[in-house]
Amino acid sequence: MKIGILTSGGDSPGMNAAIRACTRYAISFGMEVYGIKRGYEGLMEGDIVEMDKRYVGNILHRGGTILETARSPRFMDEEGRKRAILVCESFGIDALVVIGGDGSMRGALALSNESGIPVMCLPGTIDNDLGYTDYTIGFDTAVNTVVDAVTKIRDTSSSHERTTVVEVMGRHCGDIALYSGLACGAESILVPEVPVDIPLICRRILQAKNSGKKNNIIMKAEGVEMDAYEIAERIAATTGVDAKVVVLSYIQRGGSPTSDDRMLATRTAVKAIELIHKGSESRAIGVDGDEVVHYPLEDALKMKREFRSNLLDIAVTISQ
Ligand code: ADP
Repeated sequence: MKIGILTSGGDSPGMNAAIRACTRYAISFGMEVYGIKRGYEGLMEGDIVEMDKRYVGNILHRGGTILETARSPRFMDEEGRKRAILVCESFGIDALVVIGGDGSMRGALALSNESGIPVMCLPGTIDNDLGYTDYTIGFDTAVNTVVDAVTKIRDTSSSHERTTVVEVMGRHCGDIALYSGLACGAESILVPEVPVDIPLICRRILQAKNSGKKNNIIMKAEGVEMDAYEIAERIAATTGVDAKVVVLSYIQRGGSPTSDDRMLATRTAVKAIELIHKGSESRAIGVDGDEVVHYPLEDALKMKREFRSNLLDIAVTISQ
């Protein structure tokens, strides 16, 4: 049996751990494993290499993806996918593992429906925005990167009695802001799931100041519609505090994956190979609590992401 592995869409720390586990576990079942470069772009172009156990050596701890990744507008069209299917046929690929976010999974569903090739999807994104899984590969590392950065920002903002608006990634999902905000003791957490209330933020800053607090971290998710600089200006205008903006940007996508992300990548990868070995149809693989779970792609894509508002309530209560 021959399987292909690709990483697609935005990269995330832990993708390499998933590639390594898939490759070695598949080889242990006697499968031949092909690495497809640059996501669906490389699939359409036949940019494919055979991988052995050594090919995936020394990558477990590395961020990014050794297979590289891409966004591929051509693959959105049936014509592009037809070409990908022909390439799969010419390499004799019987099943695919796709590591990526919801866009990549939509692509996998289309490819699977049109070709009959089973495609196993692993949740590779820092955003934690997939409804069918509690956590995605790379999220924990991104949160830890933010926590590390904010620890440094807090040092200088307390020296200068400053308020800092820290913008973090997550697209339309507020989880990176929520989890890192809670872990950093941010005074306010702004997420796209909850409307921004500037007067409330300002009141909290003034109350904190009156009680002796010298600095504030406002953790803002990028999906919040209001601009970070506008938020800082409005805070400064109302409270008189010095308000700065730090946009953490792409550092959140890099770095060595945490042990949690390595574990998640490895456990979901192993399940993907088990499913292929058993002859399963296409599945999205994730976790529910401590359990590895899997769903048909169509069902997984329909599952809604529940915002963990109880965590925001806790953050609001204990950050004052
Ligand atoms: P992510 O997987 O991180 O969400 P994207 O949304 O950019 O990243 O999707 C990655 C790639 O998946 C796209 O460049 C495209 O090739 C493919 N893709 C996304 N949505 C679809 C779709 N509806 N049909 C077919 N392919 C899709």
